[in-house]
Amino acid sequence: MYKVLVALLLTGIICSVANAQITDPKATEVWSPKAKVVTPGSGTKAPSDAIVLFNGTNLSEFVSLADSSAAVWTINRDSSMTVAAGKGNIRTRRSFGDCQLHVEFRAPVVVKGEGQGRGNSGIFLQQRYEVQVLDCYQNTTYSNGQTASIYKQSIPLANACKKPGEWQTYDIIYTAPRFNKDSVLVATGHVTVLHNGVLVQNHTEIKGTTEYIGLPKNIAHGKAPIELQDHGDLVSYRNIWIREL
Ligand code: MG
Repeated sequence: MYKVLVALLLTGIICSVANAQITDPKATEVWSPKAKVVTPGSGTKAPSDAIVLFNGTNLSEFVSLADSSAAVWTINRDSSMTVAAGKGNIRTRRSFGDCQLHVEFRAPVVVKGEGQGRGNSGIFLQQRYEVQVLDCYQNTTYSNGQTASIYKQSIPLANACKKPGEWQTYDIIYTAPRFNKDSVLVATGHVTVLHNGVLVQNHTEIKGTTEYIGLPKNIAHGKAPIELQDHGDLVSYRNIWIREL
């Protein structure tokens, strides 16, 4: 304890002395490297360095989860797509690690079902970690399974749901878990989510896979696709883009 106190005191003195010697403001300026230039998006336009995964034209960036054939969810006239109930989940062709992901979604206008049965879909980061998509506007379910939960792991900080039929946004910042060469988890993943601009997951630690039954699992993996869930409800998506970090 005594040694720790002495060490802290000495560190403080050294820092103070070093700081007192700096008199030129330029001494603490850092000019390199420079941040890359990115033209921000606006409205439905993605930032200049983003990969557009869906802009309403086609589903060429997605395939069916079941057999990797062409994705067959419904493309609508308003540049959105809708879950084709029973056709199964779809996933991106490309694989991703750390990323910033923008997704817009809309719960069905015709309100049907309750709890988990209303406007259920989901966004699986690396096909393993689900950011829940659900219609929780005046609809109650278990808190760690509601809209913007990390499914069965983390309750969102707020319920920022809009009414069914209104477009909503998720802005997700994701840091993937790290595994060593022996497939041991050495750094947990984290996720930050803004739902309609409201912070709902703040650097939330990912405990492992988001299981419907049972506890999270941590099995080593590398980059993996983004997957969208067919839960049988006619949830729509539009304007999906991703920035690799
Ligand atoms: Mg779901």
